[in-house]
Amino acid sequence: NHGYLMIKVKKRKILLLPGDGIGPEVVGEVKKIIQWFNSNKSLDFEIDEDLAGGASYDKHGTPITDEVFYKALESEAIMLGAVGGPKWDNLEFAKKPERALLKLRKELKLFANLRPAICFKQLVDASTLKPEIVSGLDIMIVRELTGGIYFGEPRGIKPIDNGERKGINTHIYTSSEIVRVAKVAFDLAKKRSNKVTSCEKSNVMESGQLWKEEVQALHDKEYKDVELIHMLADNCAMQLLRNPKQFDVIVTDNLFGDMLSDEASMLTGSLGLLPSASLGAKNKDGKMRAMYEPIHGAAPDIAGKGIANPIAAILSFAMAMRYSLDLDKEADDLEKAVQDVLDEGLRTKDIVSKGTKEVSTTQMGDAIISKLQ
Ligand code: NAD
Repeated sequence: NHGYLMIKVKKRKILLLPGDGIGPEVVGEVKKIIQWFNSNKSLDFEIDEDLAGGASYDKHGTPITDEVFYKALESEAIMLGAVGGPKWDNLEFAKKPERALLKLRKELKLFANLRPAICFKQLVDASTLKPEIVSGLDIMIVRELTGGIYFGEPRGIKPIDNGERKGINTHIYTSSEIVRVAKVAFDLAKKRSNKVTSCEKSNVMESGQLWKEEVQALHDKEYKDVELIHMLADNCAMQLLRNPKQFDVIVTDNLFGDMLSDEASMLTGSLGLLPSASLGAKNKDGKMRAMYEPIHGAAPDIAGKGIANPIAAILSFAMAMRYSLDLDKEADDLEKAVQDVLDEGLRTKDIVSKGTKEVSTTQMGDAIISKLQ
């Protein structure tokens, strides 16, 4: 003790859950990129890797073990590949690979699902819409993920008179559930084009009316400087096809978000390119829990062939750097590297077109790393 203070920097723990199908192939490329940042930018990521989904079921008889779940709780960011596949389709509900995802979302309280829909200028032809409608598109959809009609009670199928049955689901939101997800949307908009479109069906649903009132009240109280537009969800579905570039951030509930985010992702034409983030509440140390994953699934039809597109997974890691690890500059660099590789005409099989060069999953990862260099 000579008056020097030894500051021990805690390593940032990232948990990789590659999962099934092409999951291990695309997450393998993410791992190479994390290792590159560790070696070349003196970053201190500590990588842990474990089983989830069908892979976990095969070894442990459960889609996610308690041990892995606790690791997830301890990590600053979770990078998931994808889970599922025909091999596990006939398992009982509680053992299905998807339960791993649902458990993580629920227990980590990942209430805000961020899905960017970006149309890379190099790939405008992959969209089913006219190039001028989608070129340069950059939308962020914020979907509420832990409430609403998918979880509301009462629910069920019940017998009624005269031999008929009725199916019941309840679309329910509390003020605080609405406010916390709207805050995420407003904060994001401030870092982007400063515009939020909030979607509900306030014309026919009370929960939609509450949604609209709470978002407006939060805006008036804390986010007056952000432009706020209320739009009926059905109109939003139509506007996304008519003139998608009018949107910056869209915030909406679980049900409408499910549909609108899928619709928006199709505008960009390629599943293999789109990342996502699911953000949760802050823990007692003030750290936000979060999970990052490509929007595509396990793609069993191409698994093991070395042709999967790793870009969605790699861009998911860029989101992790931006939202969980405070590394905005590094996230920008990684996104730029992806753009550069596309500019150069390198393509995996799913996006290859005339005049471009087809590369494998690992070649794509290597090319992105060489651009980082
Ligand atoms: P999918 O996204 O796995 O595949 C749809 C199509 O897109 C396939 O033809 C596939 O080859 C292609 N594709 C997807 N990602 C690609 C990539 N990175 N590079 C190149 N091509 C790619 O959807 P699906 O076929 O409906 O589902 C397959 C399995 O994945 C099912 O078991 C399903 O339950 C599961 N799934 C998991 C998740 C998840 O883990 N979050 C999401 C969706 C589906």
